[in-house]
Amino acid sequence: MTDFLDTSIEYLKGVGPARADLLRTELNIHRFRDLLEHYPFRYVDRSRIYKIAEIDIDFAYVQVKGRVFDIKLVGEKRGRRLSAKFNDGTDTMELVWFQGIQGVQKIIMPNKDYVIFGKPGLFGKNLSMAHPEMILWDDFNNEKVQGLQPVYSTTEKLKNRYLDSRGIQKLIYTLVTDPAFKVKEIFPPSILNPLRLMDRREAFIRIHFPGNEELGQRARFRIKLEEFFFTQLRMLLLKGNRKATLKGIPFIKIGDYVNGFYKNHLPFALTEAQKRVVKEIRSDMGSGRQMNRLLQGDVGSGKTIVAFLAMLIALDNGCQAAMMAPTEILATQHFSSISELAKPLGIQVSLLTGSTSKSERKQLHALLESGELHILVGTHALIEDKVQFKKLGLVIIDEQHRFGVEQRARLWRKGEEVPHILVMTATPIPRTLAMTVYGDLDVSVIDEMPLGRKPIETAMRFESGRLRVLGFMKEQIAMGRQVYVVYPLIEESEKMDYQNLMDGYEHILREFPRPKYEVSIVHGRMRSEDKEAEMQRFKQGITQIMVATSVIEVGVDVPNASMMVIESAEKFGLSQLHQLRGRVGRGSEQSYCVLMSGHKLSREARMRLEAMVATNNGFEIADLDLKLRGPGEIDGLRQSGLTSLKLADLTKDGEILQVSRNYCEKLLDDDPHLRKPENQDLAEHLRKAYKGTDWSLIS
Ligand code: ADP
Ligand code: MG
Repeated sequence: MTDFLDTSIEYLKGVGPARADLLRTELNIHRFRDLLEHYPFRYVDRSRIYKIAEIDIDFAYVQVKGRVFDIKLVGEKRGRRLSAKFNDGTDTMELVWFQGIQGVQKIIMPNKDYVIFGKPGLFGKNLSMAHPEMILWDDFNNEKVQGLQPVYSTTEKLKNRYLDSRGIQKLIYTLVTDPAFKVKEIFPPSILNPLRLMDRREAFIRIHFPGNEELGQRARFRIKLEEFFFTQLRMLLLKGNRKATLKGIPFIKIGDYVNGFYKNHLPFALTEAQKRVVKEIRSDMGSGRQMNRLLQGDVGSGKTIVAFLAMLIALDNGCQAAMMAPTEILATQHFSSISELAKPLGIQVSLLTGSTSKSERKQLHALLESGELHILVGTHALIEDKVQFKKLGLVIIDEQHRFGVEQRARLWRKGEEVPHILVMTATPIPRTLAMTVYGDLDVSVIDEMPLGRKPIETAMRFESGRLRVLGFMKEQIAMGRQVYVVYPLIEESEKMDYQNLMDGYEHILREFPRPKYEVSIVHGRMRSEDKEAEMQRFKQGITQIMVATSVIEVGVDVPNASMMVIESAEKFGLSQLHQLRGRVGRGSEQSYCVLMSGHKLSREARMRLEAMVATNNGFEIADLDLKLRGPGEIDGLRQSGLTSLKLADLTKDGEILQVSRNYCEKLLDDDPHLRKPENQDLAEHLRKAYKGTDWSLIS
């Protein structure tokens, strides 16, 4: 039997083929269910009727009772509009229509009592209302349009077909009062009762017709919770599925590599956060199940050493380790820091990237297969090449957001013993997002910076302040420090951006002439050997200034660099700015970041730059970024299915998400395969809502 709610929208009373077409194209409403889920974006209190004399144009929406007169067409061509006067005994206001004029002319009746509803505005000096909603006073009384009324989004085309907000409300009313409108409860009592959740059917009705504020809130809570619940349930089931089927190699031993390194070669004392995370990783890899862990830590929080310790555990257990980075520069950086750490232990580390020569590759493959090579660092080449390890035990992926989920899965072949996976990201993700995008991973967070770091001082400067910025650069260099100057590179305007970069470079060369100064430049059009050579020159302190595009965004580690100038900073996203800034402030010196921008800034750009000035905390920045950009723009989120949330809002409903996550975990602890009778409706709903997912583990 097909569900009533799956009925095509044209069969709803009052719709028909023509309106159905419009509903489909304009609002993406195809079935009854879509209409039911076309939730109001706001409610207005229609119990109150205002007097025109008391209306202030700051009022959001008002409702007035009165009479229409003096209806006429005014203006020419594009300025043409329908105008009418409206008087309620206290005063007169003007009503205007710019569109759908003929439709209004047909139905509007002078000298009859109307209740009109809309946003007050000014037309010239007079109070007016454009496109008011109008109900005859008699109908208003009969329909009991009182209390909280839903406001729906709609379009001009729909309005011309009488499907304004009120028209849509009528359709929904028809739907929920249909005798066939049945909604089955899907939550078991273990969720319904402790949360005092509103019944599912009632929630679907109350979300549209709340009656009062409290009931409306309970309806919204129920529906948001349910939306989150199913995204979480899906993630957690996939995770459980993988945990049950994928056995990891148990790393039980802590041997010479870890002990030797810890006792004799640790370059600094680990922070408490680093120690905690190493413990979490160790117990995960020792559990006999495959580790799938996300390691989050702000730029500079010290993820590399944690990754290295994890590799040593693999080595102690007779396995090899691989580390994968999204760019060649980053892979090379990792290779050099890992090699440095590995050297005193006699561990063999190699680098494999797109520019590794054929003969080198051949040699590499042989060493990997024989097991003589312990650690391989590289780019995508790692998975694209026919690389065969003797026994790969751990894969570390840096900067996950640039790798897809499928790529993660390509790291091992079917039937092979699966390696443990540690995903590292320096892009702090708000908790709510981490829970959803990476909901299938376990999460470790390094939430503490190494001792002695001073917060970076950040300032906004305009062109008029450039001379002083140059002066400040000279001061820093005179003190023996180094400086980054970063230019944006945006695909759409690549040519111009390169021009800006080159102009900027020329300018810097003029301001900082040889032999007193040496300047490096790195950008995407250079050959990778040249890039690498320039990076090395800067790293070794031969050059004092590094002019670059955002290719240095990730991974460059030059602790002596204490200043960064970001050109056209308004063109960068907030997270990107934060990542860039993390390239300085890595030593114990006070560091500085200067955000150069034009005077004309959009409101959002200004907020981004001001946020950078106000805080160094990556998580605060990530939260704000989410709010400014919206979840749809965040990498990785689109695939998570979460951008299709209808009512729940990731940026505002984090608490509800947390609650739903907790209940979801509890439910699965109690009934991991959803086999209990009381959970059958839930399981059924999940199967229907997420067709095409392998639910073999749910009975
Ligand atoms: P990220 O998390 O950005 O990858 P890194 O691992 O590159 O950070 O570490 C940033 C810098 O901090 C490096 O120079 C590293 O040597 C140093 N560092 C890491 N951990 C500590 C610590 N516990 N104490 C002092 N310095 C540390
Ligand atoms: Mg790093």
